[in-house]
Amino acid sequence: MKAIVYSAPNTITVEERPAPTLTHPTDAIIRMQHSSICGTDLHILKGDVSTAQPGLILGHEGVGIVHSLGSAVSGLSPGDQVILSCVSACGVCPACRGGLYSHCEDDEGGWILGNTIDGMQAEYVRVPHARSSLFKLGTHGSEKLVKPRTAALLSDAFPTALECGVKPAGVKPASSVVVIGAGPVGLAAAVMARSLYAPSLVVVVDRNAARLEMARALGAAHEVVDCSGEGGDEEALGQLMRLSEGKGFDSVIEAVGVPGSFEMAQEVVAVGGAIANVGVHGKKVDLHLERLWDRNISIHASLVDTTSTPMLLRLFETGQLDGSPLITHVFPFSKAEQAYETCRAAAKEKAMKIIIDID
Ligand SMILES: [Zn+2]
Ligand SMILES: [Zn+2]
Repeated sequence: MKAIVYSAPNTITVEERPAPTLTHPTDAIIRMQHSSICGTDLHILKGDVSTAQPGLILGHEGVGIVHSLGSAVSGLSPGDQVILSCVSACGVCPACRGGLYSHCEDDEGGWILGNTIDGMQAEYVRVPHARSSLFKLGTHGSEKLVKPRTAALLSDAFPTALECGVKPAGVKPASSVVVIGAGPVGLAAAVMARSLYAPSLVVVVDRNAARLEMARALGAAHEVVDCSGEGGDEEALGQLMRLSEGKGFDSVIEAVGVPGSFEMAQEVVAVGGAIANVGVHGKKVDLHLERLWDRNISIHASLVDTTSTPMLLRLFETGQLDGSPLITHVFPFSKAEQAYETCRAAAKEKAMKIIIDID
């Protein structure tokens, strides 16, 4: 089978690989249809994710068709169209029992696909713990309720935005929200904050005008702040304080993952507010407790558990939430290198979520 392989630092190659086979009775083999590229895949290529080593087939987001099932997998049949979760969960270890699927204690639990074992950017993938890690797409007559490409956003992007961003940031009706970073996860967070929780102010901050334009076009933000100007973060901070009438924001969602953005989050959190970190941080960040110790705030940092996926799938199916505007580019498998190049130059290419069609 053909597969997209992290072959060397900063390099992907499309290679011929043996198709995977069932190794545990709880496994499934999925014939992949669509896989999206994630910012985390770019981190892997840069060597930022020490568990992911050259030789790995990339991909932890996607949709496919059940090809074969281990003897212990119930509730699924060959031919079912499924969302593959980025997190594999045994469902019975103490972490899973507590809802912490991302920290499943099984050898093949947690975020392993496209990380420690071969991922979804291939014609076939082996999915461990298939029963709890696959989500069947509903059908309405012969018509799919959610387009399969859009459903790929439920593997990681939307659950991460909700579980690591919107919920721990405590977004409430009539509250104020700032999302720092208008990438796919930041925008998904802004869209869900606004449409599911009715805050009175949502502001999106980024350095890229096209991304801010998209935030406006999606109706994700009441206001946008561009911090690419001469005044940089300082000027942006001034704008944020003006927009929040000097109070700062009840909910601060950090969706970048660099020290400057987390510093900004600490500057703009209101008394009684919460900072939710979504960004993947590779460098240490200063924590300003000398300013924050008495402000009754909370700071939350987490990996996605994908416990929200069934609920989000229902919202997608009923049309209450639509992820499709975030998909800006679709590439055939034969243009995988170009897909990754576009993702690397996402700001310049005006790319948000990029999908590779595998079949
Ligand atoms: Zn991802
Ligand atoms: Zn587990």
